[in-house]
Amino acid sequence: MKPVRERNLGLVLRQVAEAGPRSRATLAVETGLNKSTVSSLVADLIEAGLLRDSPIEERPAKVGRPPQDVELAPDAPFVLGLEINVDYLAVWAADLSGVVLHRSFVESDNRQRPEQVISRLELLARQAIDQPFAAGRRPAAATLAVPGIVDDFGGVVMAPNLHWEDVPVTRMLSDALGPVNIENEANLGALAELTDGAGTGLRDFVYISGEIGIGAGIVIGGDLFRGARGFGGEIGHLTIDAYGPPCPCGSRGCLERLAGQEAILRLAGWDPRVRCAGSRPEWPGAMLAESARGGHAKTLEALSQVGHTLGIAAAAAVNLLNPEALLLGGYFAPLTEWLREPIENELHRRLLAGDGSGCAVLAARLGGEAAVRGAVAMSRRQALDDPAALGRESLYAGAIG
Ligand SMILES: [Zn+2]
Repeated sequence: MKPVRERNLGLVLRQVAEAGPRSRATLAVETGLNKSTVSSLVADLIEAGLLRDSPIEERPAKVGRPPQDVELAPDAPFVLGLEINVDYLAVWAADLSGVVLHRSFVESDNRQRPEQVISRLELLARQAIDQPFAAGRRPAAATLAVPGIVDDFGGVVMAPNLHWEDVPVTRMLSDALGPVNIENEANLGALAELTDGAGTGLRDFVYISGEIGIGAGIVIGGDLFRGARGFGGEIGHLTIDAYGPPCPCGSRGCLERLAGQEAILRLAGWDPRVRCAGSRPEWPGAMLAESARGGHAKTLEALSQVGHTLGIAAAAAVNLLNPEALLLGGYFAPLTEWLREPIENELHRRLLAGDGSGCAVLAARLGGEAAVRGAVAMSRRQALDDPAALGRESLYAGAIG
C-alpha cells in the first residue's frame, strides 16, 4: 500500500486536473485534508513541475485580492493512448486534465507480421510525442488497446482477427518507447463510455463493440470486470450456431462470424473489403445507416438479421449478469435505431425475467474513438495515481533521441 503522503499528492493533483484551477482553501474542503497539509502538498507538486500558481488577473484595488488559485503547469507531463485494430492504427496524446493534444487515425491492414505493425505504430507515437516534447513536456504513461486477450506481462495471448498469438507486444514497443500498459480494446471502450460516454452514471452495463470482431467490456458495480486473468468479455466467441462457419478462434458459428462488420456488409450486398478514403473506423455503420434511411431493402434485411443474432448473444449476457443497459458501440452505434427492435424481441423471448429485467438497449456515444479514448483514460488514471513517479526524470529519457 502506498504511503499516506503519496496518496494525498495524488488526491490533490487529481482534483486540480479534473476540476480545474482552484485555491488551496477549496482543495482543503474538497479533499478533507487540513489547509497546512494541502499547502505543503501543493508546494511539492509545484516543485515537481506538475502545478503552478495561476497568473493573477489585474483588478481594481478596491475589489481586493482574490485567493491565489493553483492550476496544472503548462509544461506538465502528458499521456498517450494507442490502438492497434484490425484495419487501423490510432494514437492520441492528452494532458493530465484530458485535453487532447494530438490525434491520429491511420488506415492500416494489420493482419500481417507484428514487427511491421508495431514499427508503424511506433512511428505514429513518435509524431504524437515530438511536438509537446519539443515544448518541454514529457510523456508520463502510455496504454495500448488491442483486439484480443492480453496477459499480465504485456503480451497479446491471442488476437484471432490479427492472426497473432503469443506476441510480446509491449516489450517490442517498450524497447523504443518506454513502459506501455496493454488492455483489450472493448474493456477500454467500456471504460471510456463509463467516464465520458453513454455509461456515465450507470453502475452495471455491458458494452458490445462491433468491428471486424465483436468484443464486450463488462462494468459491474461501477468498475471494469476483467475476470481472473483478464480474459473476460469475449462475447464475439459465444457460439450462436454450433454448425456455423469456422472462426479463427478454432470454434464454429461464433457471434462475430455472423454479426461482425464483414458479415453485415456481405448480407447487405457490399464487398466487405470496400474502403472509403480517409474513413474513420465507424464508417461501415455510417454507410449502412445512410442506406437504411434511404429504405434499401437489402440493408434493412441485413440489419434485422444481425439484430436478431446479436439479440441471442445479448440475452445470454443479460440472463447471466442482469445489467441496467446494453451499450452498442463500434459500427453498431449508428445503427442502434434499427438494431434495437430485433434485439429487444430476442430479449423478450429469451430472458427469464422477461421485460422485468429492465435492461435498456442504448447507443454508445464515443463511436470508433472509444478504445483509444479509454487508453488515454487508463494512462491518465495511472499518471494521476502516482505523482511521485511523474516528478522523476522522464520514463522515456533514454528512449527519445
Ligand atoms: Zn470464435
